[in-house]
Amino acid sequence: MKVNRLGIMGGTFDPIHNGHLVAAEMARSEFNLDKVLFIPSGTPPHKNRRDVSAANLRYEMVGLAIKDNPDFDLSALEIERDGLSYTVETLRLLRCAWPEHELYFITGTDALLEIFSWREAEEILTLIQFIGAARPGFDASDFLLKVQKEHPETQGRIHYLEVPALAISSTDIRSRVRHGQPIRYLLPESVRLFIQQHGLYLAEKMPDKTQI
Ligand code: NAP
Repeated sequence: MKVNRLGIMGGTFDPIHNGHLVAAEMARSEFNLDKVLFIPSGTPPHKNRRDVSAANLRYEMVGLAIKDNPDFDLSALEIERDGLSYTVETLRLLRCAWPEHELYFITGTDALLEIFSWREAEEILTLIQFIGAARPGFDASDFLLKVQKEHPETQGRIHYLEVPALAISSTDIRSRVRHGQPIRYLLPESVRLFIQQHGLYLAEKMPDKTQI
């Protein structure tokens, strides 16, 4: 029987950009994933709520960004759940929904480096494999060696993918909008227009939306 392989793309996506999309597509191709399911965080446990855009806006932006790719899907699992969005709870639900599938959680390597501070990290690592999408020049070898030494059971379950397009970052895009610098071509045009229409990321004193 064919075992389906699913990618779970987790992130705050504030906003989603072309680096995320390239990372998901590269992971799909390199790991032979049948689908990649994007799950925007509802209330990220590690962030100040006031610093993050409303979950429904981030969700809508992801929907716009992936709508022309039949291999990508969107889930409201985390944004519809009350409370903080702990990854372990999401993964338990996904594991129950797809008991036979090989599941891969794709996220930024920077986020993955913090995994042992996440709630029930040890269980997380048994539920799913991980693909860390790294910015160019990022060296994850120390982290991987340390994890494999301290947690031998994770051997072969944490993977690493260099994604040159991850030179693009959400932080930089927000800063660009705030400073009236262009963001065109860093993210899908539909998402750029959404940001403009909703006046996202503008500091009160920098209201010139025409330049983004
Ligand atoms: P973050 O701290 O905002 O991001 C850390 C780095 O990873 C940033 O450089 C970010 O770049 C990058 N990144 C994030 N998601 C990515 C993705 N899917 N593909 C490629 N790069 C990505 O991390 P976050 O986005 O809030 O969280 C990442 C995932 O880890 C989420 O699913 C979150 O729920 C989970 N998480 C869980 C816990 C927990 O359960 N306790 C704690 C922390 C994180 P950009 O800013 O450009 O995206």
